[in-house]
Amino acid sequence: MKLAKRLLGVDDIRKARANRPTASAQQVMDRIYGARKRLEEIVGPLEPDISPYAHRPGESPQEAHDRGVGYAGPNMEDKGQKDGSCNRTACQLPLAGKPQWMMLESLSGGQKLYYCGECARKFYEADRDFGRPFRCTLVVA
Ligand SMILES: [Zn+2]
Repeated sequence: MKLAKRLLGVDDIRKARANRPTASAQQVMDRIYGARKRLEEIVGPLEPDISPYAHRPGESPQEAHDRGVGYAGPNMEDKGQKDGSCNRTACQLPLAGKPQWMMLESLSGGQKLYYCGECARKFYEADRDFGRPFRCTLVVA
């Protein structure tokens, strides 16, 4: 079982990425899930949360955030909406009652997308590092 855990941990993700540097994140995950299925055929069912980054069934974005990992579950229905869930896929924290930041999505005809403060700070740091103007605007309730 130790071998199984080692095979499906972070090292496995790094290895899959190193072997196929042009693979998308989804392709890397598909390969790892394929390896996991083949392994389960040999050793039996593995713990569902063998990787700390895997989505735990029923886990909310807030719960993923609280244990220090990005949210990896299905998208929230109100993703990116004002007072809905943060638009960053790996975040999706609830926004209602909190300061929220709006970004105009140029690729979708100027749709307004909403983000939490933590994600807005990430955008701010990236924009600053690239010498670009800050993309987000604080929404005053
Ligand atoms: Zn966020």
